[in-house]
Amino acid sequence: MSESIKYLLDESRLPRFWYNLCADLPKALPPVLHPGTHQPVGPDDLAPLFPMALIAQEVSTEREIEIPGPVRDVYRQWRPTPLYRARRLEAALQTPARIYYKYEGVSPAGSHKPNTAVAQAFYNKEAGVKKLVTETGAGQWGSSLAFAGALFGLEVQVFMVRVSYDQKPYRRALMETYGARCVASPSTETQSGRAILARNPSHSGSLGIAISEAVEVAAQRDDTKYALGSVLNHVLLHQSVIGQEAIAQLEMAGDYPDVIVGCTGGGSNFAGIVTPFLGAQLRGGRKVRIVAVEPSACPSLTRGRYAYDFGDTAHLTPLTKMHTLGSTFTPPGFHAGGLRYHGMAPLVSHLKALDLIEAVAHPQLAVFDAGVQFARAEGIVPAPEANHAVKGAIDEAIRCREEGVARTILFNLCGHGHFDMQAYIDYFAGKLTDQAYDEKELAMALAGLPAVAEAA
Ligand SMILES: *Cc1c(COP(=O)(O)O)cnc(C)c1O
Repeated sequence: MSESIKYLLDESRLPRFWYNLCADLPKALPPVLHPGTHQPVGPDDLAPLFPMALIAQEVSTEREIEIPGPVRDVYRQWRPTPLYRARRLEAALQTPARIYYKYEGVSPAGSHKPNTAVAQAFYNKEAGVKKLVTETGAGQWGSSLAFAGALFGLEVQVFMVRVSYDQKPYRRALMETYGARCVASPSTETQSGRAILARNPSHSGSLGIAISEAVEVAAQRDDTKYALGSVLNHVLLHQSVIGQEAIAQLEMAGDYPDVIVGCTGGGSNFAGIVTPFLGAQLRGGRKVRIVAVEPSACPSLTRGRYAYDFGDTAHLTPLTKMHTLGSTFTPPGFHAGGLRYHGMAPLVSHLKALDLIEAVAHPQLAVFDAGVQFARAEGIVPAPEANHAVKGAIDEAIRCREEGVARTILFNLCGHGHFDMQAYIDYFAGKLTDQAYDEKELAMALAGLPAVAEAA
């Protein structure tokens, strides 16, 4: 290993620091605005929801932020995660490309989400918080926070999007196994939930609504805080362990990526694998092509507007500039529940606006075709969300074959699909369809974007 990488890793090859891309950006992120005054928010505005240590990370431009010892001690259970070369997939595709994947499914919850859940639980515990409230789509985040809460002795309440609550009873059971309380959203436990149910008692829910419910509960008590599993800068920061490990592991393999592919819901696993490489590029290192893959049914990066919007449906959150489909947009109930969010991380949106990354959208069936092909070559059954990254990587490998160029492709296999087998059952039964979102609903949601006068 090179000296610079040895400095970043400890004796068990775990990163000592989280890497913050904000230190190396050519242009600073647009400010986060107060929903009432449209003025930049200060730390005090966020204090009802998050402990100060996380707020400091949210606005930090420091390049390296030390990972606390107790967090690294938990990471050590499954980190560093393996980096595999997909040789049998390469052979099946008859591609000259070298395909590597970082496998985050080895965490207890089965995805990358515990990387931030553990950190967030640690800082909340340090700040004397007793209870964390959150939302979950597919259940990956809810089970990750439930796991972290159990380790640090925090009570956890999870608002789970109704459609996933009904589709994924095993994720709910996992949260309950870790000791969390899981409520279907929209629920009767909050004002925002009751308002939605009054208009539509059989509403299938959305992440935007579940966020409103969680924020509402968290804001009511001093000893209760909110936790978000994606989108925010501090979440993306915690995920940087993925890319940092990948740099060191690829160095051991004597390789470096020409292309990096990740799936994007809120943008955290994508940022996690991408930002350390992008930072190296921005500091004068090798240029990497970076591709974000999103579902055609919820295409925030490829079809959304780059504008200030709310993070939730009831408009309780601050305004952030991001690629958004509009906070009232409810995507169709496709299987990659973790990718059903109306917005995109402000940091990832900023990278798209600066042309530092590309984005593509794929429909559900093509994505599952890719996931099944991957499983038959490599043995790992990807989460439906991760299938988007698999599809993106396979497309890049096929392009290498057609162009006769041997590029190195790295993608993030952000989770396994062991709790998502109903999606595979539906796929094999021919019941999976490519659901289009409602163009009229998208137009309405975009028309409802808040009017924000932006500083030049
Ligand atoms: C939550 C989740 C996602 C989507 O969230 P990002 O913040 O975009 O990473 C993707 N894949 C898996 C496995 C997830 O659990």
